[in-house]
Amino acid sequence: MTAPASPDYAGRRARLAQPLPAEGVDALLITNPINVTYLTGFSGESSYLVLTRSRAVLVSDGRFTEQLAEECPGLEAVIRPPVKTLPEATAEVVRGLAPRAVGFESRHLTVAEHESLRDLLPGINWKPAGDRVEQRRALKDAWEVEQIRQAVRIAERAFAMFRAMLTPDDTEKELSDALEGYIRRAGGRCSSFPGIVAVGDRAALPHAPPTDRKVSAAGLLLVDWGASGPFYKSDLTRVLVTRNNSTLPRTGDGADVEPKLKEVYEVVLLAQQQALAAVRAGVKAGEVDAAARAAIAQAGYGNAFTHSTGHGIGLQVHESPLLKPGSEVVLQPGMVVTIEPGIYLPSWGGVRIEDDVLVTPDGCEVLTSVPKDLAAMIVER
Ligand code: ZN
Ligand code: ZN
Repeated sequence: MTAPASPDYAGRRARLAQPLPAEGVDALLITNPINVTYLTGFSGESSYLVLTRSRAVLVSDGRFTEQLAEECPGLEAVIRPPVKTLPEATAEVVRGLAPRAVGFESRHLTVAEHESLRDLLPGINWKPAGDRVEQRRALKDAWEVEQIRQAVRIAERAFAMFRAMLTPDDTEKELSDALEGYIRRAGGRCSSFPGIVAVGDRAALPHAPPTDRKVSAAGLLLVDWGASGPFYKSDLTRVLVTRNNSTLPRTGDGADVEPKLKEVYEVVLLAQQQALAAVRAGVKAGEVDAAARAAIAQAGYGNAFTHSTGHGIGLQVHESPLLKPGSEVVLQPGMVVTIEPGIYLPSWGGVRIEDDVLVTPDGCEVLTSVPKDLAAMIVER
């Protein structure tokens, strides 16, 4: 199936608005900028979307007039003058629609914004509408999957450059800065999050900020990186074996890797493969997490796997669903999630292997293709 050339924003809005009356809600106020993007294609900020079953009005300001025409032609927009605040202009639009009850994004709208809207619109019943857009965003359509594929390809090209340019004298900070450049050169807008480049025991911190530690200071280098494509994001992790002064003979099959690193790496790889094997539509997110966790616990490292097995990716690098212990969320075709078990041993280091996968009716498609067997991770110098 080929992906459509552009997303069906009107369809997304219609599907969101359709069940509103049955819930006693006449209009939805979308304030999370990522959700506004998802429903309109508008990529700017400081703009709210007011949605009913028959109308969609974007309340924005003069900085975005041109951008709105480019990104969402045909969408009804109200450009507020500088003298009016966003809540004031939004209140006018809502008043014009005369709703009795308005659903708002209770996980995003601040208490202060909510209060000012309530003051401006007395008599309207405000109903918390939770994360209903986020739940819809978890299911990617063909266009979105293609966007994520692009973001993965960009990240992979960047990693090839990173690996080719790596030297023992590079510091974590230099490498993290360079990686940002590679991602942009490979066609990305930017990194999808601040890249993690961690040498040796720094890798024991799952989110280690980069330091002046040099690659040559230890035998492993953890790289967690991702690209922002035009809209969508990717998120990958690999651990490179960097020791270039090994006293063991080189065999090329990974046999000369420090035994502890070899052991931990193989356990994480097995955990990741078992989690990947568990991914399928109809399976609970918690079951996928349990598959990874069981492999790590069986090897005696249960306490060293300190985070969830994965998370959704899309417009944001972390979104629904979360693949965490006990999660009852049922995986569905079209969800795109990371699978990223890890083992972290303080004062030694850490290993995490992360791929992005598309949930399919009978399994999953791994979207990432950077090799991950141990032999392929050895950087020869
Ligand atoms: Zn990551
Ligand atoms: Zn991740």
